[in-house]
Amino acid sequence: MHVSPTIVAGRSCGTCTLCCRLPDIDLFEKPANAWCRHCIADKGCSIYADRPAVCRDFLCLWMTDEALDEAWAPSRSHMMIYRQGPQITVLVDPDYPDIWRSEPYHAQLHRWARKAEPAGGYVIVFWRDDVFKL
Ligand code: SF4
Ligand code: SF4
Repeated sequence: MHVSPTIVAGRSCGTCTLCCRLPDIDLFEKPANAWCRHCIADKGCSIYADRPAVCRDFLCLWMTDEALDEAWAPSRSHMMIYRQGPQITVLVDPDYPDIWRSEPYHAQLHRWARKAEPAGGYVIVFWRDDVFKL
């Protein structure tokens, strides 16, 4: 996960809780795709005021990059996307196996990968135990 400073005006997590479910979080010994024990489904964090820095500091790419339109809102796309250096990581909701291969997502993910390539970057997609490098 990364620290991101600025939220795009008008955006908020709302009832999206994907980042409390899709990533593994060592601090909570939480494996990927399992609910954090502090998360109330479709509501949010039960320890919000006291949530740890790893949660407090994280914002997905949709929250910080205005180039991603509403189609990329994680609650709609069922994907959680973030940058780690040259890598753009895409975690796909296990209940939506083919969403990243549908449009407008698939073409855009490939465009990001081609754009990142000259600097050694790439896009990596995780769905359950499957990994796809674009
Ligand atoms: S995936 Fe993004 S929009 Fe959803 S809760 Fe996490 S930071 Fe907020
Ligand atoms: S502690 Fe709260 S914000 Fe952090 S992963 Fe768990 S439910 Fe989400």
